[in-house]
Amino acid sequence: MGESVACRLCGETLTRTFVDLGMSPPCESYLRADQIDSGETFYPLHVRICDNCLLVQLPAYVAADDVFSDYLYFSSYSTSWVEHARRFVVDMQERLDLGAGSLIVEAASNDGYLLQHAVALGIPVLGIEPAANIAEIANQKGIRTESYFLGEETGADAAARHGQAGLVVGNNVFAHVPDIVDFAKGLRALVKDDGLVSLEFPHLLRLIERRQYDTIYHEHYQYLTLKTAALALERAGLKVVDVQELASHGGSLRVMSTPVETAGEPTELVLTVEGHEGFAKDVFAIKADLVTFLVQAARAGKTVAGYGAPGKGNTLLNHCGIREDLLAYTVDRSPHKHGMFLPGTHIPINAEERLAETRPDYIVILPWNLREEIVHQLGYAREWGAKFVVPIPRLEVI
Ligand SMILES: [Zn+2]
Repeated sequence: MGESVACRLCGETLTRTFVDLGMSPPCESYLRADQIDSGETFYPLHVRICDNCLLVQLPAYVAADDVFSDYLYFSSYSTSWVEHARRFVVDMQERLDLGAGSLIVEAASNDGYLLQHAVALGIPVLGIEPAANIAEIANQKGIRTESYFLGEETGADAAARHGQAGLVVGNNVFAHVPDIVDFAKGLRALVKDDGLVSLEFPHLLRLIERRQYDTIYHEHYQYLTLKTAALALERAGLKVVDVQELASHGGSLRVMSTPVETAGEPTELVLTVEGHEGFAKDVFAIKADLVTFLVQAARAGKTVAGYGAPGKGNTLLNHCGIREDLLAYTVDRSPHKHGMFLPGTHIPINAEERLAETRPDYIVILPWNLREEIVHQLGYAREWGAKFVVPIPRLEVI
């Protein structure tokens, strides 16, 4: 891929680099034991910014079909995220007066972590989840879920079969779609003229401010602000009517939009190219601090393990070149990942019990967005004197 890549939102040629993290394997491609002696494909993680519309974007180096058709991320394994979803559904039921005659559609509904709360309130639901293995689990739980990618065509087809919805939700999916305008048209097809579309996505301004460069990976095709999200929605006939800042995933935006037919004036947020500069320097400082810390710990004879096997950990570990010699293993709550290996770095993933068995001196927390929850949950590690290490936004030992 050369310098002639076109912006997926406005079509301008992309010439400016936002940050270049080198080569990395797709971050959700966890490996089985029988795969670690085979070759692995690495793709560039070179993020560009459009001079014209300011969309920060990663060219589609990896096709969405390769990433999302057999996904291991189960939303329900995060307690705080499920509670966040429950509060949202209860608020929306009140705000939009949803009941047995309504419909809530969620794009990228995962295992039904959100729609289960609507089902409990007696509101009919439809989940659209491209990963067939996860859609099946949702259906087993009684949450009606279909498996395909949402776009203008599939959205219109679903609306023809199930009717349009009063509420269409898309949480942590707007950054994950390679054709953001087609996806937005799918949302428009699914929502009633007087309905509401609610999208939550990580906020680029927080990513820059809090140096969350490990949230850059091949599955995240764009890094959005209110301005760029509003531009994409506008091209699908949706207008932003409400915005909230959320603490989830390190700082997210919840953007509500309605069809132009019923919407008022959208909110404006201006961000300049200059506002994006300096990020690449911050990213290198994080790498230098973390690698130095781990090398010093190894030289001092200390043992280090990881907590969590999130996608963001794989960007960080691959970018920093950290392997088993510096981080012996990691543990994860999701049993689906036990016995597997992190892509690229081949660090083994164990059950949490391994921590108590091996008593590491340091535990590196990879999902920093759940930092408080994890430090609390692993409080027992203090008994053998373990300390927690959080690498982002700056290295901290606690
Ligand atoms: Zn553009």
